[in-house]
Amino acid sequence: MRIIPTSNIFFLLFLFITLITASCKDKESNICGDDYETDPPGQWYKGDFHVHATGASNDTGNIPSYPADIKQAAKQIGLDFVVLTDHSNSTGSDPSTTAEDPALFNQGPEFPYWKECAALTDPDFLMIDGNELSPRHPDNSVPTGHIGCLPMNLETFDTTVVFIDRPMGTVTGGNTVQQAKDAGCYTIVNHPYAFTPHIAYDWTSYDYDAMEIWNGTIGYDFQDQDGRDAWLCDLLNGKKTTAVGGSDCHRAYINPPGNGLDPALGYPTTAVFAERLEWPAIIEGLKSGKTAIFGGESRLLLDGYDGGLCRSESQETRYLRLRGSADANIGTATLSLSKATSCSDNRPDYTDGPEIEQEIIYQETIYPNDAFDIRVAIAGDKGVYSATLIGDATTYYNALSRAITIEQ
Ligand SMILES: [Zn+2]
Ligand SMILES: [Zn+2]
Repeated sequence: MRIIPTSNIFFLLFLFITLITASCKDKESNICGDDYETDPPGQWYKGDFHVHATGASNDTGNIPSYPADIKQAAKQIGLDFVVLTDHSNSTGSDPSTTAEDPALFNQGPEFPYWKECAALTDPDFLMIDGNELSPRHPDNSVPTGHIGCLPMNLETFDTTVVFIDRPMGTVTGGNTVQQAKDAGCYTIVNHPYAFTPHIAYDWTSYDYDAMEIWNGTIGYDFQDQDGRDAWLCDLLNGKKTTAVGGSDCHRAYINPPGNGLDPALGYPTTAVFAERLEWPAIIEGLKSGKTAIFGGESRLLLDGYDGGLCRSESQETRYLRLRGSADANIGTATLSLSKATSCSDNRPDYTDGPEIEQEIIYQETIYPNDAFDIRVAIAGDKGVYSATLIGDATTYYNALSRAITIEQ
């Protein structure tokens, strides 16, 4: 028999390995193992994107709720970051009154706790001074908008910027979105639908980055659901809006989960997937839409995988995976996974959210303290896939997933 020289054996071995590697990289025969491909490097960092502080918003009441108090409350419930978003029309104003002081309008400072926030930031906790641009129309039934402004680059951000939000009735929501963007902020439409229309959004611009689809006031209510529908509608329209939650806490000493018009800090919490706990990484996570919103110990993560269990968010996606848990106080909860396919966009109507055509593709009853890891088979059809965990006991302990958009 013919003896193959050693060098040729190595060559054949090399060829064999190359072929195996190539076939693994080939999309059609992707093999990620017997189990799901591991999660990418990073973790879910928990925070609150909508918080008011004493001495910067004039509707925080008489008991102090200063940045240091807010940090203490945040650490107690395990938050990794907090963004202060004081009203542009009252930053630096008298905390003992809720009356508007015309002398303070448009004068700022818009970021009065910038240095204090930097001093409260440590390797385990980020405290960021942002703003909530708060124009208003004298007729309370006319919407304008409250725009969350998150400075993106803390090194270069100009904290002396002055936001124009008055005289009443002259500044639109869209104008404040532009002002916040011009200042270098990541922009969030806060509570797009609201009981008091003058704080609802007027939809004069769609240039915002994110939408607050769960505002802490009264827990997760029907107006938050309208906001969630507006977010889904954006995604169906091809606009990559990120979903976030914000407590809108004005008093850090309010016990969780808060009550009525007095939301507690971190109810809800928004988790952002980021490589590390640094502000630029959190901003990157926001930009990529990697968020999850929840109250208490409820959680809901949504991921997609192809037939070989490699991570996938395309026509190749064959499984959606729902991971999470239910808080002890949620009551009997319903976990639903939906595929939205079209939106009848009624905006700028601010009284009712857009109508979403969607199909529930998976539903399951989840009980308090349950943890779950569920695999749902899909065909890779075009649509916007998202999940909710909604309890019947209160509105405070639900969980909302991010969305996966499959285009064709
Ligand atoms: Zn607001
Ligand atoms: Zn607010």
